[in-house]
Amino acid sequence: MGNDVSFKSKERNIDKCFYMSNTLTTVSISVLALSGSYFAKSIREKEIVMWLSEHDYAVCGLGTYGFEITEIPWVREFVLKIIDGALKKVGWELLDYEPFEEGVFKALNEFKNLILMIESIDVIESEYCEWKGYGDINPILKPPEGFPKCLKHGVYLHFGGCVICNDK
Ligand SMILES: [Zn+2]
Repeated sequence: MGNDVSFKSKERNIDKCFYMSNTLTTVSISVLALSGSYFAKSIREKEIVMWLSEHDYAVCGLGTYGFEITEIPWVREFVLKIIDGALKKVGWELLDYEPFEEGVFKALNEFKNLILMIESIDVIESEYCEWKGYGDINPILKPPEGFPKCLKHGVYLHFGGCVICNDK
């Protein structure tokens, strides 16, 4: 059981994905959260990091936390920047384990390849609005106000806490 990261474009007839085990998904999201929390400046960039961090098995359940990249609250350059940061191991010293580099780098590069393929026509803008509204529909899904970070890992907290602390 694991998770798919997919890229589907109706307009351009594209349907691609790659698969990660649960462990690899968690580690990949964790290193993206570390890099993203280090680089994020604007609200939208912080939201992207939070959106990625929400793909946390502690709140989603195993095997259900893959995602479709056209739903990311989109800023392509920033996503590429945090992937590159993760490939340079930004923040890895804050993990209390050593990620299996070969597997993580392979996953990050697969992710990067999908991101490089996406064009603005593919992005589903309504997904962003929907995501922003989840907290109003269900208070449990409301993100913490003011983008607080985990004191231990320095990553932005999502509605269910810190994606790295939750990985226990
Ligand atoms: Zn933490």
